[in-house]
Amino acid sequence: MKIVHTISDLRQSVLDMKKQGAKVGFVPTMGALHAGHGSLIETAVKECDTVVVSIFVNPTQFGPGEDLDTYPRTLEVDAAFCDKLGADLIFAPSADEMYPSEQLTWVEVEKLTDGLCGANRPGHFRGVTTVCTKLFNIVGADIAFFGQKDAQQAAVIRRMVCDLNLPLKIRICPIVREADGLAMSSRNRYLSAEERKRALCLHKALMACREQVMAGQRDANALIDAMKAIIEQDQGEIDYVSIVDIETLEPLNRIEEKALIALAVHIGPTRLIDNIYFDRLE
Ligand code: AMP
Repeated sequence: MKIVHTISDLRQSVLDMKKQGAKVGFVPTMGALHAGHGSLIETAVKECDTVVVSIFVNPTQFGPGEDLDTYPRTLEVDAAFCDKLGADLIFAPSADEMYPSEQLTWVEVEKLTDGLCGANRPGHFRGVTTVCTKLFNIVGADIAFFGQKDAQQAAVIRRMVCDLNLPLKIRICPIVREADGLAMSSRNRYLSAEERKRALCLHKALMACREQVMAGQRDANALIDAMKAIIEQDQGEIDYVSIVDIETLEPLNRIEEKALIALAVHIGPTRLIDNIYFDRLE
């Protein structure tokens, strides 16, 4: 497995692979890799001939006061992890390599970025869609792999690729959880032992919601209130608890079939997100 830090080295390496007819898979990450990222890499290895993993803590998607400076950077450990899973190439550029001069060109997806995480993180999705477009153009992959963990990001990227006719496919992979249900996240390492216990309230709330829907409750407000009560019991500070359409991300009054239940909660200083969705109600 090779690690490259410059755009020209990355392009040359991918070109060499493509000359041999390789189908290229791409897994964009911010590093501090865990089994959630691992599942994307494993899926990419299964579905593609060559897998590129990018590790880049993208400054343009962090707002003022967010954790850009403290975000864990663990390139050596990450590289060993990627190698073990069968990735072929790591692209780990510096911020200067990705943004050599002031960025005057931005990619923005409207409407889908207004609510959920977009409401309290202005500019976040503009940073995500811009860096993903840059990375897609740099890597030239056939398929890019994203996690359902970031459900809004998944919907936004899908829409961007469709609206801009970008020449790659997007695959969304299921959420990987710890044994007790906590969704894996690079930010989980910020949690103290006591916060780690309280962080389970996100999953508990989502499971209670699923149970109530299965028992026939369809009213979104009633479901949201019940989830909020569970989170507040564990002193989670709620950013949002929302029930929205899976594709448009518009709030739903009732769950009829396809629905995304998404939440963002501060446990101490750490902001965690999680979600479940209903594809079809039996
Ligand atoms: P990040 O490094 O947090 O930017 O995440 C990189 C990719 O990994 C994104 O597509 C995430 O949705 C995905 N990801 C992060 N955590 C998980 C998880 N627990 N399960 C599945 N995918 C995940």
